[in-house]
Amino acid sequence: MSSTEPMSSTERPGDAESTDLPAGVAPSVLELFGNTPLVRLGRLSEEEGLAATLAMKMETTNPGGSTKDRPALQMILDAEAAGELVPGGTIVEPTSGNTGVGLAIVAAQRGYDCIFVMTDKVAPEKVDLLRAYGAEVVVCPVAVAPEDPESYYSVAERLVEETPNAYRPNQYANPSNPAAHTASTGPELWAQTEGRITHFVAGAGTCGTITGVATYLKAQNPEIQIIAADPEGSVFSGGSGRPYLVEGVGEDFFPDAWNTDLYDGIIAVSDADSFSMARRVARTEGILVGGSGGMAVAAALRVAAAAGPDDLVVVLNPDSGRGYLSKVFNDDWMANFGFTTSSGPTLADAIERSGGPRDLLYVNPEQPVREAIDVMRTNGISQLPVCKNTPPFAAAEVMGSVDELVLMRAAADDRATLDLPVESVLGPSLPTIGIGQEVNLAIEQLRTATALLVLGGGRPCCILTRSDVLEFLEFGDDLGGDRHVD
Ligand code: PMP
Repeated sequence: MSSTEPMSSTERPGDAESTDLPAGVAPSVLELFGNTPLVRLGRLSEEEGLAATLAMKMETTNPGGSTKDRPALQMILDAEAAGELVPGGTIVEPTSGNTGVGLAIVAAQRGYDCIFVMTDKVAPEKVDLLRAYGAEVVVCPVAVAPEDPESYYSVAERLVEETPNAYRPNQYANPSNPAAHTASTGPELWAQTEGRITHFVAGAGTCGTITGVATYLKAQNPEIQIIAADPEGSVFSGGSGRPYLVEGVGEDFFPDAWNTDLYDGIIAVSDADSFSMARRVARTEGILVGGSGGMAVAAALRVAAAAGPDDLVVVLNPDSGRGYLSKVFNDDWMANFGFTTSSGPTLADAIERSGGPRDLLYVNPEQPVREAIDVMRTNGISQLPVCKNTPPFAAAEVMGSVDELVLMRAAADDRATLDLPVESVLGPSLPTIGIGQEVNLAIEQLRTATALLVLGGGRPCCILTRSDVLEFLEFGDDLGGDRHVD
C-alpha cells in the first residue's frame, strides 16, 4: 500500500476551510485529533518516592477518547490519497475497540459508511458505541473455527469482497498506523517536554504507538529509552499469546509495526498488577485509566524507580477506564476473578489449610470420555473442568465440565460413549469463585453446586468441593459469620 506524507501536528485536514472562522473554533472534529496534554503524576511519584519526573500523555482527550483516533484518521487520509477509498465507499474492519471508534468518527465527517465485524464475546456496550456513530456492526459467533464461513475472519473477508467500494484499513499491517504517531504523537512529546524526555513507556497492541513514537524520538535523540509494556503471556514478552485479560494490548502474532531495533526494553506485567494499578491511578491521581493504561503505568513505575533525578519518564495513557466499569472497576468482578482479597477467612486460607494449592486437573474437549473417567478415578474426584489449550488457562478457555453422574448415565445408555470426545457429553461450567473470597461465600454456593472453580489472578487454579470445605472447618476456624453448613 502506498502512503502519502503523514500529517504533521500543525497541518490538519480542513485547514483551508477554516480561514473565516474565529481562531477558537475548530472547523470540524477532525481538527481536534491529537495535541493531547501531558500531565505530571505527582501524587503517585511521591507515594513511590521517585527521584525521576513521571508524566502521562493523555490520549483520552482525543475526540474518540483513545490513542487510536490518530491512526484511524491517517489510514483514511492515506487511502483516499492512494485512491483505495473513493467517495461513497465503505470502510470494513474487524475491530471491537478503539480503532472502530476513530474510524467511525472519520467516516461520519468524510461521508463513508462503516461496517465493523466483531465476535459475540464482545460486551454489548462496545457494539452500541459503534452503532451510536452510525456504523453497521456484524456480530459473529466466537465458538466456530476460523475457516467456518460464519467466523469473524471469513465474514470480514466476505464483506470486503461483496461490498462495492469497500476499503479495509487492516491496522495490523498498515504503515499509516505507526506513521500517524511519528507525525503527531512523537513531535508533541518532544515539544511538550522541551526535548527533555528520557524514557517513553507505552503498551503495545498493533505496535503503532510505540514504533511510531520511537521512530520520531530516536531521530531527535537516540539516547531516549523506549520501553514497551506487555501483558504476561503475550508474544512480545516471550509468551505464547495467551492467556491474559487486559484488553487492547499484547498479541499472539507479531504485527508489521513490531520493531525491536527501536525498543530498549519490554516489560511484562500481570493482569493483577495492571488492574490494581488502574484502580490506584484513579484514586491517587483522579485519572481514570483502563486496564492497559494501568499496565503501562505499572511498567513506567519500574522504569522510573531505576531512573535518576534528571530523567523524565513519559507513559502513554491509551484510553479511559469508562470502558471497563463492569470489569476492572467493578468490585464483584475483581473479587470473582480472584484479583482482590476479603478480610474474613478466604479460600486461599482454606486451600493452604488443606495442603496448599494442587495442580488443576482438567480434560481437553477432544479427549475421549474414557480418559476423563481415568483422571477422575485416579484422583478420587467426581467432576472435571473441560478446557481448551494447555495450562495456565484463561477463565474463558473453560468450556464446561464433566461429572461422574452424567458420564455414568451416558455410558449406561450406550457403551460407545466411552470413545466419543468429551465435548459430546459436555456439561455446564462449574460456578466460579475468587481465591480471595470468603469461605462463607463458598459454603453458600455449595448448597446448590457440587463443586466450584476457583480463580486466582484471573485464571482457573483449582476445584473446591464440599469435602475441601469440611476439611477446613474441621480445624474449628471461626468463619466470622452466622452461617452454618447444614
Ligand atoms: N490500549 C488500548 C486500550 C488499545 O485499544 C490499544 C490499541 N490496540 C493499545 C493500548 C495499543 O496501541 P497500539 O495498537 O498502537 O499498539
